[in-house]
Amino acid sequence: MWFDVALLFVSTLIFPVYFMIELGRKRTSKLACFAWFLISGSYLLYIFNVGRWDWVGYYFRYALIAFWLYSVVHAVRNNRDVPLWPPRSFVSWIGPALSAVFAALFVILGAYALTGHQTSEQAVDLRFPLRGGTYHVAHGGSRTIVNYHHDYLPQQYALDIVKLNAGGWRTKGIYPSELQAYAIYGDTLYSPCNGKVLEAVDGFEDVAPTLSEKLPEGVPPAGNHVAIGCLDAKVYVAHMQKGSVKVKVGDTVDVNTPIGLVGNSGNTSEPHLHIHAERNGVGVPITFNGEFLARNGLIRH
Ligand SMILES: [Zn+2]
Repeated sequence: MWFDVALLFVSTLIFPVYFMIELGRKRTSKLACFAWFLISGSYLLYIFNVGRWDWVGYYFRYALIAFWLYSVVHAVRNNRDVPLWPPRSFVSWIGPALSAVFAALFVILGAYALTGHQTSEQAVDLRFPLRGGTYHVAHGGSRTIVNYHHDYLPQQYALDIVKLNAGGWRTKGIYPSELQAYAIYGDTLYSPCNGKVLEAVDGFEDVAPTLSEKLPEGVPPAGNHVAIGCLDAKVYVAHMQKGSVKVKVGDTVDVNTPIGLVGNSGNTSEPHLHIHAERNGVGVPITFNGEFLARNGLIRH
C-alpha cells in the first residue's frame, strides 16, 4: 500500500520538479536543452491533468507551472552561448531522441486525459449534494485515465468526491486511519434532485481507510446508500455513515432534503462521496448545474 502512495508522490511531485531542475541547467548544446524543455513541458501537461492533487496538495499544481516558467527563463539564460547541435557522436544524440519519444507519449496522454472532460452523451443534470466547502473530483470524467470507474458500464460516469481543507489537501497527513481526519467525513448529503427514494440501505459499519480491496461477506459494495429516481435516471449516493440515512423507500425528496452523512461504508478506500446515475443499468453522465466534471475539477459552495 505504501508503495502506491510513494509512487503517487514521486510521479506527481518528484518527477516534474526533477525535470524542471534539469531544464534550468547549462547543457552542451541548445538541442539538449530543448530536449529537457520538451520532457518537462509534456510531463507537466500530463500530470497537471492526471495527477491526484488532492493527495499532494491542490495548489502545488499551479506552483509547478510557475516553477516551470522560472526554469524556462533559466534554460534560455544558461544556454545562450552553447552550440546549437550536439557533437557528432551517437551517444550525444541518445538523450534528445529519447526525450522526443517520451515527450510525444506524455503529450498524447495529457491530451487524451483532457478529452475526458467532455461527453457527447445526454447527461442528467443534478444539484451538487454537498454544501459548505471546497469539494474536489478525485475520479470523474469520460476516460479511465481520470476516472477508474469508467471501465464498468453501470458506473462509467461515476464521480468520487473529496473535500479540500484550506491548504488544498483532502486530509491532515498523507493517509491517516482516523475517519474524522478527512475533511469530508460527516458532511451532510442532500438529495441531488427533486424525486423519489428508490433504495435506502443503512446498518453497515464505517471501515478504517484501506487501499486493499476486501469486502466482508454480506456488505454491499455501495455500503450504506440511497438511490433516488431523478427524472428517468436512478442516482446512487454511496458509502454513507452508519445510522445516518434519513430517508426511506417511497419518500418524496427535494434538493433541500438531507438524506444522510458522508461516511466510509462498503467498498471504499477513504471517506468520500460516490455518486453515479444509471438508466436501465447503463451509466449516464451527470452534470451539476450544467457542468460536466472530470478529475481535479472543483465545486465551491
Ligand atoms: Zn466510486
